[in-house]
Amino acid sequence: MRTKIVAGNWKMNQDLEGTRSLLRDLVANLPRTSVSVMVAPPFVNLPEAVALLQGVSVEVAAQNMHFADSGAYTGEISAEMLLSVGVKTVILGHSERRAYFREDDELLSKKVGKAVEKGMNVIFCFGEELADRYDGKHFEVVERQLKNALFDLPETAWKQIILAYEPVWAIGTGETASPEQAQEMHAFIRKQVAGACSESVAEGISILYGGSVKPGNAAEIFSKPDVDGGLIGGASLVADDFIAIIKAFG
Ligand code: PEP
Repeated sequence: MRTKIVAGNWKMNQDLEGTRSLLRDLVANLPRTSVSVMVAPPFVNLPEAVALLQGVSVEVAAQNMHFADSGAYTGEISAEMLLSVGVKTVILGHSERRAYFREDDELLSKKVGKAVEKGMNVIFCFGEELADRYDGKHFEVVERQLKNALFDLPETAWKQIILAYEPVWAIGTGETASPEQAQEMHAFIRKQVAGACSESVAEGISILYGGSVKPGNAAEIFSKPDVDGGLIGGASLVADDFIAIIKAFG
């Protein structure tokens, strides 16, 4: 049985008061669920989020980290720093990091390697752009992103990896991959992991879908056999919507 996960990526939204208020609303209305729920507030509010969620089964994740242990990297945050405030999971490879901060596969491979070495869990994001899909290159692009950043990992590291397929054309655009498109790609991803690593790793790994998941489309997307949850952007900023998406898992 794979872990079902719904994770909220808050991006650069919510100041301290907004973080408190959103988390309070979330906690007050959180359903009883077997779904593993995560939220990723901005760096500065991580300690507050960890404190507020003590004893609540909502995990706090970070949106990024640096690959070095420490040193002259102005403005950056290390794995140790995250761990020291109680954050054990980090989102890496988000398309906004790739596009706006030029994060490429080589850099991401270093970041994933460091997170794994430090015992952290990684939500690794990847996905094709619209032009890739039009050109029929979406499988090729996804395969390359996975291979370059993850396929050198030892088998033991894979229990720390959660995959998040996020077609770039569906992020924050209101466009969603159809449930069939998501299922087709997730099955392909699982097959790649089986080939690169092992059948048992592929069977056990959670593959999330991300891209304009909303209360109205979540149940249908989540009903697909290879979709093990969602990485939610915009809708994770509205407590009622995020809760409805968690409930869509049944
Ligand atoms: C995301 O940023 O990971 C995301 C999926 O955003 P949205 O849900 O807003 O498309």
